Order: sequence, then C-alpha cells, then structure tokens
Amino acid sequence: MESPRVDTAATYLDWNATAPMDAAAIDAMTDAARRWGNPSSVHGEGRRAKAMLEAARRDVANALGVQPEAVIFTSGGTESLGLALNGAACGARIVSDVEHDAVLRQAAGAHICPVTADGVLDLEALERLLVEVEGPPLLALMHANNETGAIQPVEDAAVMVRAAGGRLLADCVQTAGKLRMPSADFIAVSAHKLGGPPGVGALVARCLDGLEAVQKGGGQERGYRAGTENLPGIAGFAAALAARAADRCWLDRVAGLRAAMESRLRDIAPDVVIAAAGVERLATTSAIRLPGVVASTQLIALDLAGIRVSSGAACSSGKVRASHVLSAMGWSAETASETIRVSMGWTTTEDDVARFIEAWAKLAARRGK
Ligand code: PLP
Repeated sequence: MESPRVDTAATYLDWNATAPMDAAAIDAMTDAARRWGNPSSVHGEGRRAKAMLEAARRDVANALGVQPEAVIFTSGGTESLGLALNGAACGARIVSDVEHDAVLRQAAGAHICPVTADGVLDLEALERLLVEVEGPPLLALMHANNETGAIQPVEDAAVMVRAAGGRLLADCVQTAGKLRMPSADFIAVSAHKLGGPPGVGALVARCLDGLEAVQKGGGQERGYRAGTENLPGIAGFAAALAARAADRCWLDRVAGLRAAMESRLRDIAPDVVIAAAGVERLATTSAIRLPGVVASTQLIALDLAGIRVSSGAACSSGKVRASHVLSAMGWSAETASETIRVSMGWTTTEDDVARFIEAWAKLAARRGK
C-alpha cells in the first residue's frame, strides 16, 4: 500500500502540525485491532496482546536507540512531558522560554531560562539559574523548536544540569524518527509527528528513580502510567518509527529543498526574514516573515491556492495568536504577526515547494500595490 497523502489535491507543508500516517502504520494498527485483547488479561487473548505490546516496545526502543525497559507508552507528547514534569522527583523545574505550551502550561512556577536572538537556549543564563535554584533541578528543553526548527544545545545543557545534580527532559516530539536521540534522562516522543497515529507516544525514562505516575489507576506500564494500553496505536507508532529508521536519506533531500526554497524567496523579496537562520535548524522547518503582510492574509491566500502551511502558533481553537517563540527571540508583535511556518516531510517533493514559491511570490508582488 502506498503512503497516503493528506489531500491529494493540496500541497501539504504543515508537517510539524501532524504528518500523514504511513501505510505500514495503518496496516499494523489494523492487524493489532483484529488480534484484540487486553495485555493485562491472563488468558490466551491477553497473553497474545501482551506479546504484541512487548514486541512493539522493543521495536520503538530499537528505533530510538534506547533500552526497552525505559519506554513508557502514553497518549502522546503532551502526556509524556506532563509525566516527567510532574512525576519526576526534583527540587526545582527550569524550562526554556521557547518550549511548547505542553511544557509551559504543565510546569507552573518553573524558572524560565531565556534564549538568544537566534532562539537557542542561553547557556550562560542557564549556568546562573543552576546556581540560584534550590534542590536538584529538572530542566525541560526541546530538541528542536516546532516553529523555527532551531536545534537546542541539549547535550551541553545535560552536562551542566547533571553537574548541578539534576536531570534533563528533552522534548523530542519534532525530532524523533528524524535525528539521533540526545543523551537526556527523559525523552518525550509523539507518534503523529512521525507517521504514526495521533493519541499515542512515549516517555523514555532512562532513570526511573523517583518517577511517580501522574495518571493513576491499574498498574499498567509497570505502574508509571495507568490505563489499558492503546495497542493498535502503539503498533502503528512502532511501525512508523521503523519506517523512519529504514530511510534516513529523506532528511538530506528535504534539507536541499529548504535551502533552495529560502534562497529563491530571498531573490523574490530581499527583505524576507527567516527566523533562526544563523543557527543549526531541523531541515524540515522554515519560519518565514514577509514584511507588510499579516500571517492570516498569507494563510488564507495560500490556502485558496491549495497550499497548507501554518502561522507560528495556532491554538487549538484555530485562532492565530502571537508567537511566544518569536517574542522570546526579541521580535515585536508586529514582525511576529507577519510570519508563517512552512514544514516539510518525507514525501515532500520539489513540485510542492515550487507551488508554494509561486503562490508566495504573488503575495510578495501584491505588496504596496
Ligand atoms: N512538543 C512539541 C515540540 C510539539 O510540537 C508538540 C505538538 O505540536 C507537542 C509537544 C505536543 O505533542 P502531542 O500533540 O503529541 O500531545
């Protein structure tokens, strides 16, 4: 079965929001649904379900390069982050100010560490915070930013946090299946960003010491996450991760597409601004400011042209609001409001990018008319 496109008539460039599901993931889910059972039941169906669950756990661990015992299945990125932020023993929590709302809104009272103008964690500010806070710290830092793609200095931060007796939680929702996982103590992963179904993910807990369940109930997931496991979802998650692990070349191809696209946009409108252009970015992601045209106008015009992109941050209501990421990088509300996000994935083609450039060029040409 071919991997389905989201909408064959449209050009989908919003992969950081969600990715089309892999055919292999759909097959694995259907298979798991047919061979249903509760992994906690002791009878035949239960034992069969348990074997499928543990096979999926091994596959996920293998693809992420971690130990199977470290994998705790959850309902996705948000829950995984919440489990580490609220379940891991620590004296103080520190979060960067460009974290996803899934971190910022589940870490009330956390110390906020600023980023540089390029949207990368300010390591000197972190150093100062680590001296100030009381008790072993838990730092939450994303591997790559979902709006700009800026890769964060996770390894450097891990060394500093561990030297202060603390632990690091890496939000790898945008990088799992794409980049090598960092050596963080906790890693949050979500299936729907990598070709699996929504509503399933994992917290990789390399260190289970002091970790307490947040969602309590039955003793599933060795007591760290109660609730009957979403076996079809988990099977789809494992199959999608295996598909990503089997082909790492697409990311280089997409890096080439993005470089060509950004260079073309600069030719068309020399005043275009690409956020975090000066630092290493996830190859799929481009945050593009077209001065003089608000993002909502750009989104509508592009959507009418059959091109799906997003503004930096859209809340679940679908309303566009100012991006806290660009604002943390020192952008004004006005400049941030002129910025859209283009994000690519494994089936993105040169034609997709060409269609986007053509429609964007029309928007740029209309300015001042
Ligand atoms: N973290 C980042 C960086 C994200 O981009 C997202 C989703 O957009 C999340 C966390 C939340 O993941 P989920 O949708 O699986 O809850």
